[in-house]
Amino acid sequence: MYVNQQSVPPATHYSVDVECVATGRDHNARAVAQISLVDQYEQVILNLYVRPQQPVVSYLTPLTGLTRELLEEQGVPLEEAVRILRQYLPRQSILVGQNIGKDVDWLQLKEGQDYQSLVDLTGVYRVWNSKYKTWSVYGQDHLAKVLLGWDTQNASHDAVGDAVKSIRLFNLYNTLKADPDPKAWEKAQETILAAEVQPSFAKRNPEFDGVCMGNRRQCKCGAPFLG
Ligand SMILES: [Zn+2]
Repeated sequence: MYVNQQSVPPATHYSVDVECVATGRDHNARAVAQISLVDQYEQVILNLYVRPQQPVVSYLTPLTGLTRELLEEQGVPLEEAVRILRQYLPRQSILVGQNIGKDVDWLQLKEGQDYQSLVDLTGVYRVWNSKYKTWSVYGQDHLAKVLLGWDTQNASHDAVGDAVKSIRLFNLYNTLKADPDPKAWEKAQETILAAEVQPSFAKRNPEFDGVCMGNRRQCKCGAPFLG
């Protein structure tokens, strides 16, 4: 997308997304392997590959789109990638993403120092389920498929693509909330609730390359579930 720099105000909202490869067989043994930074205008600011220090057990390629060749050719050490990220991320930025707190933890970015605040799309797009009297939360793929018509089936998770999805969903939320028709947001919620949820990669593959994918019901590795 072409953005005329002179006609739009500087970006305030950014999405940061991290993809990880497996460095062990339990579902917590992961290391950062790709970092993306996309601004609110869907401009891709950074796409960084990281070469993990620990030996990689699986690149989880169908899930991450990452391969050994890619990381060996283009990967940089994590510290270097995070240093570059900090250079490009304005300190006043608001970070948007699905479970964005987790990405920020991976990168050890600090609130008030590296960014101003976080917007978690999981909370933004939660839907009250009157049948079960509980909030339903959805994966980003479900939201992107239902609301943006994004073909998410069998597509691997590229950090850049995921960050663009996040920004687009965030912009859509703002558009819906600003709609003069008060039913616009309600209708979107109904659509999210009504659409069938496609099983996630972890559900389809409780184990991949001998690595536990952390599906709570099918986990056999016994590692704790950390948030
Ligand atoms: Zn497990």
